[in-house]
Amino acid sequence: MAFTEQYDVAVVGAGHAGCEAALAAARLGLRTALFTLNLDLIAQMSCNPAVGGVAKGHLVREIDALGGVMGRVADAVGIQFRLLNTSRGPAVWSPRAQCDKQLYRVKMREVLESQFNLFIKQAEVVDLVLEDAPTDADNHAATAPTRILRGLRLRDGRIIHAAATVITTGTFLNGLIHCGEERYSAGRSGEPPSVLLGEALKRLGLRNCRLKTGTPPRLDGRTIDWSRFEEQPGDAEPTPFSFRTRSIPQRQISCHIATTTPETLRLIRDNVHRSPMYSGQISAVGPRYCPSI
Ligand SMILES: Cc1cc2nc3c(=O)[nH]c(=O)nc-3n(C[C@H](O)[C@H](O)[C@H](O)COP(=O)(O)OP(=O)(O)OC[C@H]3O[C@@H](n4cnc5c(N)ncnc54)[C@H](O)[C@@H]3O)c2cc1C
Repeated sequence: MAFTEQYDVAVVGAGHAGCEAALAAARLGLRTALFTLNLDLIAQMSCNPAVGGVAKGHLVREIDALGGVMGRVADAVGIQFRLLNTSRGPAVWSPRAQCDKQLYRVKMREVLESQFNLFIKQAEVVDLVLEDAPTDADNHAATAPTRILRGLRLRDGRIIHAAATVITTGTFLNGLIHCGEERYSAGRSGEPPSVLLGEALKRLGLRNCRLKTGTPPRLDGRTIDWSRFEEQPGDAEPTPFSFRTRSIPQRQISCHIATTTPETLRLIRDNVHRSPMYSGQISAVGPRYCPSI
């Protein structure tokens, strides 16, 4: 097989997971390729631009302690920091930052582009390249043939050799979006799904299942009368995620809290049977992060 490019590590996907995986491999001195469907949407935050909360805040600080960048990037672009749960014991205190969504991906791309040994590629990975492993003649009859992963096939025909491959395609593999009664294939909000790679993984016999998340409608802040909401400022002394951050550079802004009205509640109750969460249209399992109400 003629490989067109050679790497030590190939990472498929440049979301939060893939960025860290690719940077970690490159920092170890390995020639690393990072594949993504769209260079302009590297590290795109799908929903509300929050980093943190009880579980994720802990994870981000662990990534930071291991030399990762998510905490540093969140600190650089955070526009509201709050340490959550401070009315309870320190075990459940949890850092959270609302980030500038556009700046987050610009900053992450800057970090990736300045990493030696890391090559960022916009391309769709459609298949894995497998080879039969050399067999041990004595044991041949007793064991099933083993196949070794040699690399990746791209949609444009290129075949990439990689000694190791990391797949971090997140929300894209055969992704499905439900919007009220509509249902369509998609990756992260507004992006195409990754169907061919999903099929390739199925052909390998890997078990496939679907997690779900919910997300609220996007509102245009310019159309909202903020004076009618309860203002929630961030902490006067922001708690950064990274142990290496000395100060928070961005101007801080407030969040705003709204409560529902009897009229809104009536509308929801009258139409809840049309929601995919309640109509039986969604059968996936798993955590649901972002309830809209
Ligand atoms: C609508 C929505 C709302 C969400 N809200 C939240 C939230 O509020 N908080 C939260 O923590 N999480 C939320 N999530 C989940 C969030 O998207 C994930 O936590 C996070 O993005 C996962 O990061 P990831 O690196 O695993 O993958 P993703 O961010 O999904 O990135 C996947 C990467 O893989 C690439 N890719 C996929 N297929 C291929 C291919 N075949 N070839 C090359 N590249 C490929 C994509 O281009 C992308 O770069 C939400 C998800 C959705 C869809």
